[in-house]
Amino acid sequence: MTNRVEFTAGISLESAHSVLEKKNCCEKLHGHSWAVTARWAAVNPTDQGLFEHRLSNLENTVSDLDHGNLNDIEGVKENMATAEAVAELIFKRLSAINAGSCLVSVQVEEEPDCSISYFGNIEKK
Ligand SMILES: [Zn+2]
Repeated sequence: MTNRVEFTAGISLESAHSVLEKKNCCEKLHGHSWAVTARWAAVNPTDQGLFEHRLSNLENTVSDLDHGNLNDIEGVKENMATAEAVAELIFKRLSAINAGSCLVSVQVEEEPDCSISYFGNIEKK
């Protein structure tokens, strides 16, 4: 029997950013309560602690993003700390520590009812 399971883990961040290329109110430094949700899938998982491991991975992956300026984070293009860029950064970080499961997406919510989901690079290699 083949069983596929999916699980999500979420975390909140309090971080500032500015997006200079927007040329509107977003260009001024301001803060958000960001909600980050990561989704994984696994087939016949044997590690009973897989969910706890992934939640821990997520917490460790975003710890440097909390209570800081996202424009100062390495891997985010200067002055372009958009929700899209943050989701891509978190996805790349989590992808590197993903044994036993498949990272499906990372969702970043900048405002209530305004979020972006990043699914990785889907170009064929
Ligand atoms: Zn903003």
